[in-house]
Amino acid sequence: MVVLLKQNPNKKQLDNLMDWLHSLGLSVHCSQGEQQTILGLVGDTSSVDIDLIKALDIVEDVKRIQEPFKNANRKFHPDNTVIDIGTGRIGGGDFQVIAGPCSVESESQICEIAKSVKASGASMLRGGAFKPRTSPYAFQGMRAEGIRLLLEAKELTGLPIVTEIMDLSQLSLFEQVDIIQVGARNMQNFELLKELGKTNKPILLKRGLANTLEELLMSAEYIMAGGNERVILCERGIRTFETMTRNTLDLSAIPVLKNLTHLPIIVDPSHATGKSSLVLPMALAAAAAGADGLIIEVHNDPQHALCDGPQSITPDAFDTLMGAVKSILPVCMKY
Ligand code: PEP
Ligand code: MN
Repeated sequence: MVVLLKQNPNKKQLDNLMDWLHSLGLSVHCSQGEQQTILGLVGDTSSVDIDLIKALDIVEDVKRIQEPFKNANRKFHPDNTVIDIGTGRIGGGDFQVIAGPCSVESESQICEIAKSVKASGASMLRGGAFKPRTSPYAFQGMRAEGIRLLLEAKELTGLPIVTEIMDLSQLSLFEQVDIIQVGARNMQNFELLKELGKTNKPILLKRGLANTLEELLMSAEYIMAGGNERVILCERGIRTFETMTRNTLDLSAIPVLKNLTHLPIIVDPSHATGKSSLVLPMALAAAAAGADGLIIEVHNDPQHALCDGPQSITPDAFDTLMGAVKSILPVCMKY
């Protein structure tokens, strides 16, 4: 349920209303927008008398929210959520590109790639330290040492870092990580989501391989219900019957999500397609459809990459991509 307040509500009356709502066992989320202040009520609102609230002097209107996601709902929070990452803002009209290798492999590899993606205009560095691999015999990531090397690359370039957490037991290693990624395979690891909801780190939440957009928003809701509202959604392709691409990039997820939620949405054309030659066209398509940014796998030696080489683009190709994306931004959708 949302309560739309009149402009400049009387403070005492507002406090009384809040106290009464709290006494009903509801939590109240206050969104102070440019145009309007909205109270979002979370909890069992079935016993709330809508007419009673509507009759209050300070209230303009009251509406029930049908969707199961509340904190993530745009009706709760009409303005876009903007997440400041130091080198830029994700959401709210800016376009940010996160780039780097699938996995951290060595000091020289991550530092070299960090320098080149920075020079091309990336605003964050990605790199997996804990890798979710289909085969237990495949490279599993450098783990704690990988995070240490990412921090070294951050020190060298000033680029904030994004890296994936796979299990709660790893959380203490993420203290200096700027954005914690929850990968597609963990999108519905609800215990992990709940714990991340208690942290103050921005969370990059990737859509599961076979999850609906509503399920993605419910996973965001898990994080937000714990008090952490800094969630960035990521469309990274879903499983379909098509075999020419690793996954199928659901571009319509961008306008659909933009309508349903105030959270920023970025697109991962690397995992969505699995092929380096398809990364540029899909990056352009994502920007055109109104994404808030991209996350792209870049490797200085894709043929010898320990993970996801076929979908990794070279630093030169990344430079070309950045130029192409920048050139179309003025005509891209804005939400
Ligand atoms: C990744 O970003 O390296 C990754 C494993 O992505 P996803 O969870 O989308 O497969
Ligand atoms: Mn990868």
